[in-house]
Amino acid sequence: MSHTLTLPSGDQLHYQLERRQRRTVGLKITAAGLVIHAPKRITQSHLESLIALKADWIRKKLAALTANQIPALQWQDGEQLLLLGNMFTLAIKHDLRSRAVEYAPGILHLAMPNHNDQTAVARKVVQWYKKQALVDFARRLALFSTRLGVALPTLFLSNAQTRWGSCNSKKEIRLNWRLLQAPPHIINYVICHELAHLKEMNHSAKFWAVVASIYPDYKSAEKELKTLSLQLHRM
Ligand SMILES: [Zn+2]
Repeated sequence: MSHTLTLPSGDQLHYQLERRQRRTVGLKITAAGLVIHAPKRITQSHLESLIALKADWIRKKLAALTANQIPALQWQDGEQLLLLGNMFTLAIKHDLRSRAVEYAPGILHLAMPNHNDQTAVARKVVQWYKKQALVDFARRLALFSTRLGVALPTLFLSNAQTRWGSCNSKKEIRLNWRLLQAPPHIINYVICHELAHLKEMNHSAKFWAVVASIYPDYKSAEKELKTLSLQLHRM
């Protein structure tokens, strides 16, 4: 039977419950998610308090499961890639003379002599992403810095493995080019977050108030970015 438990953190945990002839509660993470084997006579509230105690362990295991379900990118013709939250198709054509990269809505056309070389394809696509990212991020940065009433900071792209953005005292903002895969409201959030650091170089309540002044729904954006993170790092 399928159940949902709301944890003290507010997160919802879905699980399958199977009552068995047994004395202890068993937790198992399967491809379908969390499965709980419980003794026939244990009450639902007792069971749920036991599950809540194991919440951290469960969350970690479920996150690992999701991570494994995201297949690695194949740098080949027909692969689906993300741009501003939308999928598009990679179309690679063998061409001895041309090395053109052209984006038409829904398709990124690549022409190259070594079209079967996945490393070469990856390099070309990433190069294209970086070029688009610089234009896209610069426009958003100009918009939100005006809204916050700060001078336009200098923009750099970053290739960090763990951070989406950073800001320093020289008023330089670095944004991960991989963010271009995310939906626009997520990119806007990261930009507002970094811009707010121009006023508050910390994560104090004062800082979050500055973020909220230009991006009120920052809490849900922060959560969404965490969920997206693994997928955005496939590239
Ligand atoms: Zn920060």
